[in-house]
Amino acid sequence: MRIDEGGRGLMGRVGFGVAVGCAVVSCAIAVILVGRRARRRRQWGRAVAVLREFEEGCSTSIGRLRQVVDAMAVEMHAGLASDGGSKLKMLLTFVDSLPDGQEMGIYYSLDLGATNFRVLQVELGGRNSMILRHKVESHPIPQYLMTGKIEDLFDFIAITLQNIIDKNGVAEHNPDLRRELGFTFSFPVRQISSSSGILIRWTKGISIENAIGKDVTQCLEEAMSRRGLNMRVAVLVNDTVGSLALGHYHDEDTVAAVVIGTGTNACYVELTEAIIKSQGLLTNSGGMVVNMEWGSFWSSHLPRTPYDIALDDESPNRNEQGFEKMISGMYLGEIVRRVLYRMAQESDIFGDAAHFMSAPFSLRTPLMASMHEDDSPDLKEVAKILRENLGMQDVPLRARRMVVRVCDIVARRAARLVAAGIVGILKKIGRDGSDGVATGRTKGEFRRSVIVVEGGLYASYELFREYLKEAVAEILGEEVARNVVLRTFEDGSGIGAALLAASHSSNR
Ligand code: ADP
Ligand code: MG
Repeated sequence: MRIDEGGRGLMGRVGFGVAVGCAVVSCAIAVILVGRRARRRRQWGRAVAVLREFEEGCSTSIGRLRQVVDAMAVEMHAGLASDGGSKLKMLLTFVDSLPDGQEMGIYYSLDLGATNFRVLQVELGGRNSMILRHKVESHPIPQYLMTGKIEDLFDFIAITLQNIIDKNGVAEHNPDLRRELGFTFSFPVRQISSSSGILIRWTKGISIENAIGKDVTQCLEEAMSRRGLNMRVAVLVNDTVGSLALGHYHDEDTVAAVVIGTGTNACYVELTEAIIKSQGLLTNSGGMVVNMEWGSFWSSHLPRTPYDIALDDESPNRNEQGFEKMISGMYLGEIVRRVLYRMAQESDIFGDAAHFMSAPFSLRTPLMASMHEDDSPDLKEVAKILRENLGMQDVPLRARRMVVRVCDIVARRAARLVAAGIVGILKKIGRDGSDGVATGRTKGEFRRSVIVVEGGLYASYELFREYLKEAVAEILGEEVARNVVLRTFEDGSGIGAALLAASHSSNR
C-alpha cells in the first residue's frame, strides 16, 4: 500500500516533475522567443531611429529651400563684389557672346578630363542652328602622362588630334585653313582672355608640376605647332560654359547651365555692370558668362548631418566644395554607405555583414541609383547589388527596404538643393518672378528662361531628375515654373565648345 502509494506517489511526483519540467522548458522557450523577438524589435527600432534622425537632418522643407535660394543669390552678389568676398568664386570667362545659330564650317573641341580626353569634330550649317554632323572620339590618358611633364601630355594629345583630323580630313574643303579649337579644360584656371588662362592647380588625380602658373592654351598651341598641326585655340572654357553655348545655339532664352556629374558646377550670363569687382569691364553685348564654381557654395541653411561632417573631415579637401559634397556623383553613394554602416553598427538588421560596409567609397553612386530605382516587389536588384558588389549575403527584405529609403533621402535632398541653386540664379538675374521689376513679366507674360542641365548623374538618374523638376515647381509656383525650362543635350559641353570656337573664330 505504502509501496503502492509510494509507487503511485513516486510516479505522481515524476509525472508532476515532468509536467513542471515541460512547463519550465516551454516557458523558457517562450521567454527566449519573446526575448529574441523583443531584441529584434529593439534592434529594428534602433535602425529606424538612425533613419528618422538622418531624415530629419536632411529636411528640405520649402521654407528651408527658400533660405537656400536667398543665400545663393546673396553669395553670388558677394562673389561679384570682390575676389574672396564669397565661397563662390564667380570667375570671369571673358565669353561675351554666345553662338546664335549662324555659325558655319568645321570646328573642333578638345575636352581634357581626369581619365580621358575627348575630341569632337562638328560641322555647322550656317543658319537655323543646323549641326550637319558631329563625331566624337574618346581616348584614355596613359597613367605615366598624368604625373610627368606638360609637354609630354600635350604632345600626346596633339598627335592624337592630328590622327583624328587626318582620318576625317575628307570633309574639309580647304585643308590650308587654320583649324579652330574649343578647349574644355575643367581645372581651376585664372582666365586672362576668352582663349587663355593660367593653371592655378590640378585636381582629380593629375599632378603635372611644371604646368602650374603657365598659360595652358600657350602650352597646347606650342605642342600642336611642334607636331605641325595648323590649329589655334579659339576659346578656353570649362564644361558648363560649353553646355550653355549649345543651349543658346538652339534657344536664345538660355540663361544658365548646370553640370551634375562626378562634381558639380554652374555658369550663367551676367550683366557686366553687375560684375563690380571688375570695374570698367566693357563688352559689346553688355554681358559676360560667369563661371560660378558653385560646388564650393556654402550656407548655414544647408541641411548638414553628422554624416556630411564626417565625410568632409575625412576628405582631402576639408571645408571645401561643401555644396558639391551634398550633391554630386562622387559623394552620394558614400553618404548612403555611411548611414547604412551606422545602422549596421547600431543594430543587427544586416546580420553579421556590417563589416562589408566599412570601406569608404565602396558604394558607388551608379549602384546607389540602381538600388533606389529597383521597382521589383521583392527588391531583387537591391539584393543582387548588396550580394555582388558589397559581399552581403541574404539581406532580408525589410532591411533592403531600409536601404532604398536611405538612397531616397540622399538623392531627394541633393536634387532639391540643386533646384534651390537654380532658382537662386534665376533670382539673381530677376527671372524668379519674386518682385515687381524682377518678375520677368513682359506684356503680361513671364519671360521664358531655359537652363541647360547636364552631367552623368543627371542624365542617368531618373528619380533625381524628377525630384529636381518637382522642387523647381514647388519653389517658384506653377505659373512661373511653366516658363522655366530645363533642357539637356547629349555631348552638350563638347559640341558647345566647338560652337564657341566658331563664334570666336578669327575666320569669321
Ligand atoms: P565628369 O563629371 O567626370 O565629367 P560625367 O558628367 O560623365 O563625368 O559624370 C560621371 C558621374 O556621373 C560618375 O562619376 C557617377 O557619379 C555619375 N553617374 C554615372 N552613371 C550614373 C548612374 N547610372 N546613376 C547615377 N549616377 C551616375
Ligand atoms: Mg564632364
